[in-house]
Amino acid sequence: MDRRNFLVAGAVSAVAGGALADDRRRSTSTTAAVVTSSSTVKARVIVIGGGMAGTTLAKYLRLWGDAVEVTLVERMPTYTSNIMSSLVLTGQRTLSSLTYKYDALRSKYGVTTVFGEVVSVDPVNAKVTLADKTVLTADRIVMAPGITFDTVPGLGTSNKMPHAWMAGAQTTLLASQLSAMRAGGVAILTIPKTPYRCPPGPYERACLLADWLRVKKPGSKLIVLDANADIVTEKDNFTNAFLGLHGNVIEYHNNAEVLSVDPATMNLYTASGGTFHGDVVNMIPRQRAGGLIAATGLNNATEGRFAGVNVLSYASTTPGAGKVHIIGDSSATTQPKAGHIANQEAKVCADALARIFAGGSPDPAPVTNSACFSTITTTQASWLHAMFQYDPVTATMQGVPAASGASVGWNKDSFEDMNKWFGALMADTFA
Ligand SMILES: Cc1cc2nc3c(=O)[nH]c(=O)nc-3n(C[C@H](O)[C@H](O)[C@H](O)COP(=O)(O)OP(=O)(O)OC[C@H]3O[C@@H](n4cnc5c(N)ncnc54)[C@H](O)[C@@H]3O)c2cc1C
Repeated sequence: MDRRNFLVAGAVSAVAGGALADDRRRSTSTTAAVVTSSSTVKARVIVIGGGMAGTTLAKYLRLWGDAVEVTLVERMPTYTSNIMSSLVLTGQRTLSSLTYKYDALRSKYGVTTVFGEVVSVDPVNAKVTLADKTVLTADRIVMAPGITFDTVPGLGTSNKMPHAWMAGAQTTLLASQLSAMRAGGVAILTIPKTPYRCPPGPYERACLLADWLRVKKPGSKLIVLDANADIVTEKDNFTNAFLGLHGNVIEYHNNAEVLSVDPATMNLYTASGGTFHGDVVNMIPRQRAGGLIAATGLNNATEGRFAGVNVLSYASTTPGAGKVHIIGDSSATTQPKAGHIANQEAKVCADALARIFAGGSPDPAPVTNSACFSTITTTQASWLHAMFQYDPVTATMQGVPAASGASVGWNKDSFEDMNKWFGALMADTFA
């Protein structure tokens, strides 16, 4: 099976919890390190950001590229997965169970890791500067710095309304606030305008919290303030869950963009004129590409929020920045901002770079896929999967309806499949 066909098969196997492997990975020992002697190096690549996209890129470029030296720069010594992190709020997961190390990247694949903050990127000369003034140079740079948040007017530095949308301290904080909330209290969850990280994520968190509140905090209400005109994905399942199963807990408001907040009173003020008060507020702000993208001048898409890319190689479309590739949530494509898609974009980019370094051109017809499970209760999930293929007319990745779909309803089997899918995705990325 070639790389392209594997991506197609992956849409089905991933939903069933199958492994996200690839042809070259299977033919490569998983224990022997991929060694490149400095005298044989044919190209050097710096990867910025060791999350879902950057880590996958580093690993697969070492597997697929011929003598490519890869240096991954990441600010944190370990990675904490956002995926599954809503289950930390209900006490079903711990953050440590979602923490991943970079050891395999070094020992099995020969990636060089540097832990530090990248403060500037020179896209013309492919040069990267770290906070400690270290300067790294390469033939190409791959940027995968994820997202950053818009400022919420009125919030300041208060930690009273955590987003918990980047797994870590904010997740623990929101979990403790929910745990301390009185029975019969009011929790509020806000959903930002699209595009944001993980389209079904806020809706599945709302369902999960509603189920948990019903049992742990009887008589409580969960107000969902959605800045969008309607539920943005998996509409049938979330509508049925909000109105039916969780109808006694969830109060849903569309077109309810939060314009400002007051952490002293725990009030939120919305575009529709409504004021909402919560005992606990999960304030998920509007999002844009990781700060380094705008600082480098690569935020040329989505009204300056994200980075335009050529989806055949994920090279920047900013004039003069062709040596820089942007993958994962920072890039602006027609695909959702999701960890599974970040993994797929990384593979397309790694394949393109391997071909370019070998004197060729990127695959002219890439295919990607994404599987997604949504927690509807603390024990049941729904699912959806989507396949995308390159459309040469629009130069975008377009959904393939015949190979995409969603579950009708939710069940326990899908919850178990979710755990299998997650294990396979994280192993494909970090192991
Ligand atoms: C609650 C929640 C649930 C989710 N559930 C799912 C799901 O079920 N399925 C799914 O597919 N996706 C899901 N997602 C989305 C998924 O987590 C993201 O789409 C994915 O993490 C994007 O990968 P990324 O590599 O672009 O960014 P990240 O994974 O955030 O990685 C970015 C990395 O860059 C590093 N970095 C940033 N700037 C610098 C710098 N200047 N210097 C050094 N390092 C830097 C960061 O430290 C970070 O490690 C969920 C997200 C959330 C919040």
